[in-house]
Amino acid sequence: MENLAGKEYGDCALVEFMNKGSFGFVYKARLTDKETGSTGYKGEIYAAKILSLENATDRHRELVNREINILQQLDHPNVVHYQYHIVADKIACIVMEYCSGGTLFQHIGALKRDNKVMDEEEFVSTLIQIAKGVEFLHDNAIIHRDLKTKNMYTGDKKVIKIGDFGVAKLISNSPKMSVLVGTPYYLSPEILEEKPYDEKTDIWSLGCSCYEMATGNYAFHLDTMEALKEAVCKGKLPESPAIPYNDDIENLIKQMLSKVSADRPTIKQILKFLQEPQTYKPKRNDSSSQKVSRSESTESNVYFYKGMDEKMKKKNRKFWEKESEKLQK
Ligand code: ADP
Ligand code: MG
Repeated sequence: MENLAGKEYGDCALVEFMNKGSFGFVYKARLTDKETGSTGYKGEIYAAKILSLENATDRHRELVNREINILQQLDHPNVVHYQYHIVADKIACIVMEYCSGGTLFQHIGALKRDNKVMDEEEFVSTLIQIAKGVEFLHDNAIIHRDLKTKNMYTGDKKVIKIGDFGVAKLISNSPKMSVLVGTPYYLSPEILEEKPYDEKTDIWSLGCSCYEMATGNYAFHLDTMEALKEAVCKGKLPESPAIPYNDDIENLIKQMLSKVSADRPTIKQILKFLQEPQTYKPKRNDSSSQKVSRSESTESNVYFYKGMDEKMKKKNRKFWEKESEKLQK
């Protein structure tokens, strides 16, 4: 596709080419300011994903439609916010919140070049934010199906956001959802074995992302689909590099990477585990309101784990043991 910088689609003006994705091209963009008329543009920068519909098959069009429809419904601080879309003859233009901080994949890579990985504090606060986004999706009956560090973005104030719903799908009533989708390294055993799957497939992919955040390496990195399938379906976790955090966190990641999907924790159990110690209580002006709106400060995403003393760690471990027992029943 030619460089589209300078072009306008409906209310959207493309400013600058940013990146190429597997289906489309991503540009920095501005939106027409409706209050002052069509001549002025709001200062704010957005990200516009341009998908070519020129040689689109029905399957391709369906994916585009699905991406737009799902994005339209989502409003959560830890989910990339959809702003506007227009489907023209040959392209679809999807305008979303611009995340200036790059992807988590890039962040992990930058740390790795300095021979570093995330410290435990950053890991936990990052995971809490991602988990809140995933909880929101699962509460809305959405399986993301393509969770990976390349689809986790950093926005303003270092808030982590889940994006790229290209292959997200609403959970249908039918238990059979066995289409092969997603990026192979993060694919769950059930998807690789083409079995029916549910939202626990996201927990697997989240586990793979956690291992990557903790070690700087992919959990499963193999050249062919056959080799990947063999490694993933063996139910054996990579032994090195070792996860450099405390045992509770290591166990959590390992639970997420259970071969049997029923053995993996739910997203609510993961959040409960991370937040149980409650050493930090978010400040709220209105205690009756538990709903977090998008514009509200995301202070409540920060860190409950810090300063956990031995007693709390013990309590934590007990909690986790109980949760695993429940899972095994
Ligand atoms: P694909 O799934 O087709 O690979 P993505 O939606 O993941 O496409 O976008 C490709 C790249 O464009 C990302 O890796 C990221 O660098 C950039 N990008 C996408 N969305 C945004 C956004 N909202 N803000 C900033 N950069 C983005
Ligand atoms: Mg992507």
